[in-house]
Amino acid sequence: MPELPEVEVTRRALAPFVEGERVQAVVVRERRLRWPVPARLAAQLKGQRIERLERRGKYLLWRFAHGTLISHLGMSGSWRVHPGAAPPAGAHDHVDIVIAGRKPSVLRLTDPRRFGALLWHPARSGDARRHPLLSHLGPEPFDPRFDAEHVFRHTRQRRAAIKQVLLAGDLVVGVGNIYASESLFRAGIDPRLAAHRLTRARCERLAAAVRAVLTEAIEVGGSTLRDFVGADGAEGCFMLEAFVYDRAGQPCRICRTPIRRIVQGSRATYFCLRCQTRAGRS
Ligand SMILES: [Zn+2]
Repeated sequence: MPELPEVEVTRRALAPFVEGERVQAVVVRERRLRWPVPARLAAQLKGQRIERLERRGKYLLWRFAHGTLISHLGMSGSWRVHPGAAPPAGAHDHVDIVIAGRKPSVLRLTDPRRFGALLWHPARSGDARRHPLLSHLGPEPFDPRFDAEHVFRHTRQRRAAIKQVLLAGDLVVGVGNIYASESLFRAGIDPRLAAHRLTRARCERLAAAVRAVLTEAIEVGGSTLRDFVGADGAEGCFMLEAFVYDRAGQPCRICRTPIRRIVQGSRATYFCLRCQTRAGRS
């Protein structure tokens, strides 16, 4: 499933092809995504200029003067750029955005499982960041507001395990299952620890670990940018060498203790019993 780093790398790959460019046509072959693609989308976007391509959580925001196209990759979605013209569409190539102008190209949305989304938010309805899908999202991991104080304050009433709280998305967005296990390992925190028991010092380490893990994943993904152009096929996770994720029974890269796998809220969690503790040393 595409997580925040994949979406951010997608944004960086697409931005040079779309920002400042005009939409010549939108071809919708399949409207039945997670929600129906608006019937009038092609008419609404034709001839309009894309001002910026932004990201909020795992949503891409295609900013036009008259509104915002909100897209989400769901479970299996991906965007590809085809400079010039696109090859014939395959069974899962549901939408093309055709760009005219100096650098004509076709942006193609492929989504075999169709849990992705493409929604139109007109400017007269207010800021797209207040859209019901986006308004409840926690701060971005790279937002200065996501700091030790924020983590401390937002975990005082939370008795759920810190891993679960990270996944919930209201403390911080973009920490999916893989990055939650990796961040907690880096911070030395047992994923089963009740969130309200985190000390201030451990909140500091957790915030830093989340930023470090996501930054590295985006950097690794950055080396795959050219795969977004002309090619097809899906990327996996950007983390080249996980410390704990999917390494059950293998030795910890730090202390050689076998990595443990448990299930929390029906999702797998991986951790090192020795490197990650319930009680912080500070
Ligand atoms: Zn270890």
